[in-house]
Amino acid sequence: MHEERCDVAVVGLGAMGAATLYQLARAGADVVGIDRFAPPHDQGSSHGDTRITRLAVGEGAAYIPLVRRSHAIWRELEAQSGEALFEQCGVLVMTSSEAPGRHHGADDFTAQTIELARRYGIDHEVLKASEIRARFAQFGPIRDDATGYFEPEGGFVRPERCIAAQLDAARQHGATVVTGVTVSSIESAGGGVRVKTADRTFVANKVVTCAGMWSAGLLGEPFSALLKVCRQKLFWFRLEAPSIFAEVSPTFILSDGPSETDICYGFPPIPGENSMKIASEQYTGLDSIDSLDRTVSQAEVAQMYRDHVLGNFAGVTPELVKASVCTYTVTPDYGFIIDDHPALANVTVVSACSGHGFKHSAGIGEAVAQRCLTGRSDVDLSAFSLNRFR
Ligand SMILES: Cc1cc2nc3c(=O)[nH]c(=O)nc-3n(C[C@H](O)[C@H](O)[C@H](O)COP(=O)(O)OP(=O)(O)OC[C@H]3O[C@@H](n4cnc5c(N)ncnc54)[C@H](O)[C@@H]3O)c2cc1C
Repeated sequence: MHEERCDVAVVGLGAMGAATLYQLARAGADVVGIDRFAPPHDQGSSHGDTRITRLAVGEGAAYIPLVRRSHAIWRELEAQSGEALFEQCGVLVMTSSEAPGRHHGADDFTAQTIELARRYGIDHEVLKASEIRARFAQFGPIRDDATGYFEPEGGFVRPERCIAAQLDAARQHGATVVTGVTVSSIESAGGGVRVKTADRTFVANKVVTCAGMWSAGLLGEPFSALLKVCRQKLFWFRLEAPSIFAEVSPTFILSDGPSETDICYGFPPIPGENSMKIASEQYTGLDSIDSLDRTVSQAEVAQMYRDHVLGNFAGVTPELVKASVCTYTVTPDYGFIIDDHPALANVTVVSACSGHGFKHSAGIGEAVAQRCLTGRSDVDLSAFSLNRFR
């Protein structure tokens, strides 16, 4: 079979792959990106209109340089593409619970967020319940002992638009984008790497895999033992009219109990849509990704409203506008994996980033492209190495 050659092949063109392809092409590499669907799409982990971004990343200090670079790259892409990608409406991280809330591996997520903001000089305010209510009436029902962290530079990004903008920019820089084609195997080929699909074979000097929830199936051990795919549900509930939401409302993360599933997060109404998007988190792994149920049941809608909307929010009706299913691909410590494949030379693996990766994706793409082309990156990626699981 004829072999198509390139410097670097990127497998998977969702959040991480589109960013990596763009940065490689921008740096002048001869690059091919391959995806089983036609990104942006709604089959993986990067759909649903919005993703929260925040500079004080309560998951740990190692993430802060990545999100800072991402914010800068999205602004550059906005200027190039004319698309609105990043809405800086602020983010409010809150605890409204008897005990501190655990989130993404941090024992007291709100306190850790505040601590990191102080340490890294990130502009913020610490708010009492009365101050949160006075500023944002939608949080009226929170507990009197609730605490909040408000970061004006946070907000949300538009995942589908970010992916499309980076793929367009990658094409403009000469990248080849192959869609609707599934990679079936990745194997060493002399000094390079052979990437096979049903009827094409690519030979690259280097390969970056960004296969999201499909990573374990494509890469085998140790990834199949480390990555757990968890079904997540997104809900858009209609707002009461007239709305009590302030014209500029923040995105939010609210711990309303001590366990890692006692959490909800959400977004202000998008102009023209009189609804609030809200979600909670689940960490039960699927037996197989083929068993993923992509529909949201009436019982799940009612449970979400009862468990997280009532008691935390005012001005939100139980009427569902729309719902969607998405997946987290989670490592044992909720951190990222960005490292060489231990058994396949010249293959870099970028994990689906455990349900908190989008805000970092543009910066990850830049760092992975640098690592691929020069052997080092401006942002230190050592916190995301596989070694920590050995
Ligand atoms: C409900 C939900 C809410 C989230 N909220 C936030 C948030 O508020 N803030 C935040 O920062 N992060 C958030 N995240 C996390 C973030 O969205 C993910 O970390 C990120 O989008 C994952 O991107 P990815 O590129 O790894 O995966 P994907 O975007 O799913 O991309 C993987 C791609 O690989 C392709 N692919 C897979 N296998 C193959 C193959 N064999 N051959 C060819 N192509 C292949 C797929 O088609 C797909 O396009 C959330 C995630 C979910 C699910």
